[in-house]
Amino acid sequence: MAAEIQPQPQARKPCLLSKIDAFQEVVSTAVIIPKEDGVISVSEDRTIRVWLKRDSGQYWPSIYHTMPCRYSFLFFSLLEFVLSEDYNKMTPARTYQAHQGRVTVVLFVLEMEWLLSTGQDKNFTWHCSESGQQLGTYRTSAWVSGLQFDVETRHAFVGDQSGQVTILKLEQDSCSLVTTFKGHTGNVTALCWDPVTRVLFSGSSDHSIIMWDIGGRKGTAIELQGHNDKVQGLCYASHTRQLISCSSDGSIVIWNMDVTRQETPEWLDSDSCQKCEQPFFWNFKQMWDSKKIGLRQHHCRKCGQAVCGKCSSKRSTIPLMGFEFEVRVCDSCHESISDEDRAPTATFHDSKHSIVYMHYEPTTGNLLTSGTDKVIKVWKSTRSVCCLETVLHCGFQSNNH
Ligand SMILES: [Zn+2]
Ligand SMILES: [Zn+2]
Repeated sequence: MAAEIQPQPQARKPCLLSKIDAFQEVVSTAVIIPKEDGVISVSEDRTIRVWLKRDSGQYWPSIYHTMPCRYSFLFFSLLEFVLSEDYNKMTPARTYQAHQGRVTVVLFVLEMEWLLSTGQDKNFTWHCSESGQQLGTYRTSAWVSGLQFDVETRHAFVGDQSGQVTILKLEQDSCSLVTTFKGHTGNVTALCWDPVTRVLFSGSSDHSIIMWDIGGRKGTAIELQGHNDKVQGLCYASHTRQLISCSSDGSIVIWNMDVTRQETPEWLDSDSCQKCEQPFFWNFKQMWDSKKIGLRQHHCRKCGQAVCGKCSSKRSTIPLMGFEFEVRVCDSCHESISDEDRAPTATFHDSKHSIVYMHYEPTTGNLLTSGTDKVIKVWKSTRSVCCLETVLHCGFQSNNH
């Protein structure tokens, strides 16, 4: 009998609210102005624009600022502006000469009055935003593409193009290397830190997301496999305990983080299939002794055993191990996975543009995506339609009884 579908209170669906498509070039960074119906965009066409939502529901520019400086100068420095309260005026406040190469990530830490930045010159620097003074610098091993900071412990998380995340402890004018996290086979493309659960999420061009559970203190790292392309953005919605991730192919995945997931097992080494004991192709001795043909080695994603193709012919999703896509499992593991175990722990949505940047605004729950199509889309998170249908359907049935 088919399992009864329970309405999921967690299920949310991004619903397109507005589009802004007045750009000549791709918008590399954009943020939703908290509590205002506004958007600030920084585009490759050298413009900074502030957009306010009018009564018509359309976004109109209230500020259009073109960088007066040369291209190279613009992207090597950090420019600070003061925005007027009505968002109609932007006044240059300070210029930080921070990097010898293009700036890659900027993070402002209000609590510390610190401005953290990284550049293609492989320097990670931090400035005091009050005095404008550079406080310290640290040489990273590769270009940095993700940067997060924990105010409470003053740890900076620095994700780079080599695929590793470096954890630095910052003092006022010095820093020390704490540790590095290695788990990705591609560049780190995005980082997201949740200070409440003390979990760090890293997204990569290898299509995966790793959840580094620092708060759990057991060294748990869980892989989330739900993207078919480069992960481009990560945001954590703490009030709904959902991780929002997006990728180059335009997909937005909303992960339910209330679920306890398990780590994937280490892959075991063996010279023969751990199920049927047939030798693998490099095991000449056993092949000769038992007059058997050598087989190719595979691994079951659930138990980690080395198995032959025949003993692992089935595929399954294992959402509780982060596999939202079907993966290879051995026959006995396939039997042990119930329909309930296969219930997805994430929802999948199509933004219909190739995402380069994403921003989530927690007070309104609105999400912004910027694409290679030079369009900004603003999304509202709503109860998913299918889940409402399920609720209505159940209500209708019970009335009939
Ligand atoms: Zn076998
Ligand atoms: Zn198995």
